[in-house]
Amino acid sequence: MQSALSATTGESRPSSGVSRTQPASRPFGRWGMLLTLLLLVGCAVHAPQRRAHDGPRPSPPPAESATQAGVAHEATVRIKLLGGQEAITLVSEAPLRVIADTGLRRLPPGAWRFTIQHAAPPVYTHYVFVKRFDAREQDAAQAHAAEWRQRGYDAEVFILGHRIYTRMGRPLDNRQFWVALGRFDAPGDAEALRAALAARNQWAWTRERRAAPGRLETIAVGPGGVRAAFPGKRVEIEADGAAAIAVRGASGRETRHAGAILLEAGPDRRMEVYEHAGLETYLKGVLPNEVPALWPEAALKAQAVAARTESLANRIDKHFFDGYDFCIVEHCRMYGGIGTAHPATTHAVRATEGQALTHGGRLPPAVFSANCGGHTENNEAIWAAEADPALRGRPDSLRANPGPSPAVTGIGDWLSAFNEAYCAGDADHFRWTRRLTGAELTEAVNRYRAIGPVRGLELGPRGASGRLTEVRVFGAAGEATFEREGAIRQALGGLPSAMFTVRQEGAGSGVVYVFRGGGRGHGAGLCQHGAKGRAEAGHSYAAILMYYFAGSRIESLY
Ligand SMILES: [Zn+2]
Ligand SMILES: [Zn+2]
Repeated sequence: MQSALSATTGESRPSSGVSRTQPASRPFGRWGMLLTLLLLVGCAVHAPQRRAHDGPRPSPPPAESATQAGVAHEATVRIKLLGGQEAITLVSEAPLRVIADTGLRRLPPGAWRFTIQHAAPPVYTHYVFVKRFDAREQDAAQAHAAEWRQRGYDAEVFILGHRIYTRMGRPLDNRQFWVALGRFDAPGDAEALRAALAARNQWAWTRERRAAPGRLETIAVGPGGVRAAFPGKRVEIEADGAAAIAVRGASGRETRHAGAILLEAGPDRRMEVYEHAGLETYLKGVLPNEVPALWPEAALKAQAVAARTESLANRIDKHFFDGYDFCIVEHCRMYGGIGTAHPATTHAVRATEGQALTHGGRLPPAVFSANCGGHTENNEAIWAAEADPALRGRPDSLRANPGPSPAVTGIGDWLSAFNEAYCAGDADHFRWTRRLTGAELTEAVNRYRAIGPVRGLELGPRGASGRLTEVRVFGAAGEATFEREGAIRQALGGLPSAMFTVRQEGAGSGVVYVFRGGGRGHGAGLCQHGAKGRAEAGHSYAAILMYYFAGSRIESLY
């Protein structure tokens, strides 16, 4: 039952929260626990770890779920399955329809090998952005662009995403509005403008967007050596009767897909393989990778609604500029195609079809993690983001009156005393101990910052659940500050969570750091093991979701 969770990190993270605000640097004066402080000289390394992306990642303009009230329907998502392919094989037991720029052609069932020739890469446009605004700030974005135009810039508001509508016709607005000061064909021109702005202390970032597909001639060779050629921008291949198509690329790994398969030319002039699928089909291939299929039905349904909400809420933050919606790895969500669907998770998707969480006229970021350790965390303590009213830290307690919070008792006492949580059944992760020798800790930390042998560490401020938001590590050749739970967990050797305390045993070369903690994952939003515990206690999926995403409600989109 644990295997499905351990196959991934068992958590989902919003990308929109990563850079909504710049991380504020905090003074160290407020720091709580001082463990050891042996050497404070040398080159201080203060810079916090930044995420890889300098800004959010937008995605292609998806069709609106509805244009008129009352005619809402399922969204179609574009999933990138493979890139950089010389050849792929598609296998279908049903006849195939190939839709190309030259028209439609039918192919008999069997194994078809697709190659491409005469490929031309896609066309990219390079933008220089200066500021982003969310859906409630549309007017402010327009005003900001107008200011720049008055100063002589070719400013425009770039809209990411579309409004979607509930079945009752209520608009949900998760759009973002980015102010661009220019768009260029050549990346050098965009970079020159960014640098000129930077020289005037105006922070700006560049982003390339796939503006038009490339070209390719696709050659299909099928059973008996039958050959067909399709010149154009893309080919789309569907099986009759919505039968699944098996896709086999260079790795030899085969996946099965219920959606249409698209072939296009990539920037490397090789083949890119996409699936166009309905959102519900996508979710059937996602859910079994996120939650053990044998968990109680209410927990699976809660996960299905959260996944549906999160997919729609954050797709503009993922691959908007890349020209598709989702990749198939953890960056977006692990996705294995319809071939990985399990009857129980498929049932949970079907039974909640079209249902999503809404919160104040938008889709909330319905993130989850494996085990909250007994208390969920405020989103802004985990990611550099504004506080989200749907992501408030709450006790995951069996009791109506959960007693004092970790912030009141101190994390050490709370970890020892509090055990009446819905996620406590997952005992290995609810409370854990990790022992790292000085040498092991040194190796782990120096992978991220070269500070030499670790001499001690200092635990900084904590969020509502007791998760650390800063840890400072002192080494023989410097010191490093790790901000935010993801960076902290990684830097300290891959700890299950940032809800921990630490003590030192021994000294000198025999020193051991003993980390005692709770939970697994970031702790924001839905606690998966808590949801399981609640489902076993008879709670409905709606009650589970209402608890972890306070103030949200479930609405039908279609
Ligand atoms: Zn992705
Ligand atoms: Zn929990």
